Order: sequence, then C-alpha cells, then structure tokens
Amino acid sequence: MSPPTDDDFQRPIPTDPIDDTPTVSCSQCDDEWDLSHELDVLQLGNQSVEQFALDHHRHTGHFPDGATPWVATCQQCPDAEQFISETPARRWARTHTRHTRHDVELVHEDEVESVIASE
Ligand SMILES: [Zn+2]
Ligand SMILES: [Zn+2]
Repeated sequence: MSPPTDDDFQRPIPTDPIDDTPTVSCSQCDDEWDLSHELDVLQLGNQSVEQFALDHHRHTGHFPDGATPWVATCQQCPDAEQFISETPARRWARTHTRHTRHDVELVHEDEVESVIASE
C-alpha cells in the first residue's frame, strides 16, 4: 500500500480567472487579443491598452478598435508622434514648443488644435 499521496499534484492549479483583463479587438484584422502579456510580462498596467494600440499601429499601420489616436505634428520639423490618450499628446506638444519654439498641430478625430510656441 502506498501512503496517501500526492493527489495534490493532480489538482489543477487554481487559475482564478481575472475577468478584468482588458481585451482589444480590431475589425480590420478581424481578431481580438487579451492584454495579459502587456499586463503581466511588460508590467504596463494602465498603459497596456495604449501600448498595445501603438504597437499594433507600428506593425500593421492601423489602430485597433476604440483607439483614436492623438497625432502631434510639428509644423517646422519632421517631428511627429502619435498617442492614444490626450495627456501625453499635450505634454509632447508643449514640450516640443517649449524647447524648439516650433508650433505643433494636435489632431484628434477631426479636430485640429494648434499649440503655439509661447514667447
Ligand atoms: Zn489590426
Ligand atoms: Zn519641431
């Protein structure tokens, strides 16, 4: 008789499904992703959706569903950046105008806003 054993090892590892893992879908790719990689591996937390959208754009040339980019474009040099949220886009525009005295155009959906370098 073997001693009462190791049945414990047979138990499935409790996975505690985390239901709030954000998912992103893209109708152009007809695909959907959960962001556990961004959350767990890259430790991006709240920025995981934004990072995913930027990565998706970098690799496919388009943004996934629900991501409306903020595009900051310098009017005087080739500098331009895309952001998924307003705050970093505004920060980039302000910082750029501050350091270069260049005017920056901020485009979101169909709205265009100019960030003018202050004196
Ligand atoms: Zn896509
Ligand atoms: Zn510039």
